[in-house]
Amino acid sequence: MATKEEIVKTVPQKGFFGHPKGLFNLFFTEFWERFSYYGMKALLVYFMYKSVTDGGLALFDKSTAASIMSIYGSLVYMSGIIGAWIADRILGTRRTIFWGGLLIMLGHICLALPGGATFLFISMVLIILGTGLLKPNVSSVVGDIYSTNDPRRDSGFSIFYMGINLGAFLSPLIVGAVQQEFQSYHAGFSVAAVGMAIGLIMFKLSEKKNLGMAGVAPANPLAKNEIKSIVKKAIISLVIFLVLVLIVYLKGWLTIGFVINFFTVIGVLAPISVFIWMFTSKSTKKEEKSHLLAYIPLFIAGTMFWVIQEQGSTILAIYADTRTNLEIGSKTISPAFFQSLNPLFIIILAPIMAALWMKLGNKGPSTPVKFSFSLLFAGASFLIMVIPAMTSGGTELISPWWLVLSFFLVVIGELLMSPVGLSATTKLAPEAFAAQAMSLWFLTSTVAQAINAQLAKVFDKVSEVQYFGYLGGAAIVLFVIMLILCPWISRKMGSIR
Ligand code: GLU
Ligand code: ASP
Repeated sequence: MATKEEIVKTVPQKGFFGHPKGLFNLFFTEFWERFSYYGMKALLVYFMYKSVTDGGLALFDKSTAASIMSIYGSLVYMSGIIGAWIADRILGTRRTIFWGGLLIMLGHICLALPGGATFLFISMVLIILGTGLLKPNVSSVVGDIYSTNDPRRDSGFSIFYMGINLGAFLSPLIVGAVQQEFQSYHAGFSVAAVGMAIGLIMFKLSEKKNLGMAGVAPANPLAKNEIKSIVKKAIISLVIFLVLVLIVYLKGWLTIGFVINFFTVIGVLAPISVFIWMFTSKSTKKEEKSHLLAYIPLFIAGTMFWVIQEQGSTILAIYADTRTNLEIGSKTISPAFFQSLNPLFIIILAPIMAALWMKLGNKGPSTPVKFSFSLLFAGASFLIMVIPAMTSGGTELISPWWLVLSFFLVVIGELLMSPVGLSATTKLAPEAFAAQAMSLWFLTSTVAQAINAQLAKVFDKVSEVQYFGYLGGAAIVLFVIMLILCPWISRKMGSIR
């Protein structure tokens, strides 16, 4: 099998802003995939609870819709574990990405058609599976097109990160405007489907020429004798799962509430089992165990951060629709537009932050310190929402600027944590689990959204002041605990910064 450096030699090393030509394909594939994902997400919660006369499905009340959105998001990131495994052991990253893109596109097509609740759930399954196949793998091919010591590697990832947020910024504006213009959610979702189709074309465009052999062969192909036992295990698990579903169904327990609670438990158990698996594995060395211990508080902080950040597309999205004044002059803006704020601030602030870290050099904050401060900003983004909640008495419409400020604060936290989170994970994960590292980081979003599925229920029961106050306060308390733990974490991280 070709070594990493032999593979890099097959990739043209120039051709896209001084970066390997293949970055063009990867940048646009992820741009369009995120365009379709965040465009769809900007409408979905409304589509679920709005009345039929408003073009919605009127399927659930607001808080159930928010819970379902969260479980959906949780599974979208959880399926990355399977996607990374399939690429690593069976299909190779490139083919896995292609199949993922295809499933995602079909998922958006389902929403573009007037298929009611059935098509909504089929679409969710397709997008969960498709994103799991595509997302971790497209990022990992970015790593494959640079040689290990290439100084352009980090900036390659920053360009890629810009692609993600550019897609996430543009789509709510376009998808939201199309929905408003045609008064049809299906019209909005069809834009997402077209986006993913363009993404697939861009991926395939001169793929062989631009990406060479990167991501073609599975890195760690299944041995013949392993196949039998894996197929056996997969069949047994599937049968157990189906029997359980049947029992639950026959008992009459199969309600939406049950499904939400079931996946909350799975979402929380997933990383715990991955940690135990890594920690107890014979291939994990002693030093790597110490790194894994250091990773636990970082993982918890990351989770708390996404708990708040991800509510931007659920609780705050509902808030934008129901509690915010959307009249600007004679125009009424779409509440979906608020979803563009996070990526917009990322695009503006990321280069500024990067320049700041460059300037500070070795004097800059360490990874654990950055993680801690991200919680301070996340907490602040919720605490400031207490002010309009108090002054509006919980009924009067509030100024949209409160939401703008809240999204702005959370983004400062995101920039402190999200870019370093991935690289910290790849450095702290045991060598034998390198292929799982990318999906391990995404598990922070999995757990966070599993927790959010339960928090959405609470939102309905307590006052806004209590909700934003307690959650924002919890993030600040965790910030302080993290700050106290920083020296311990750094010690356990050893030479890794
Ligand atoms: N917003 C980023 C993306 O879509 C990060 C997501 C996450 O780690 O949860 O890639
Ligand atoms: N900032 C998110 C990410 O980096 C995008 C979003 O939440 O819209 O992709």
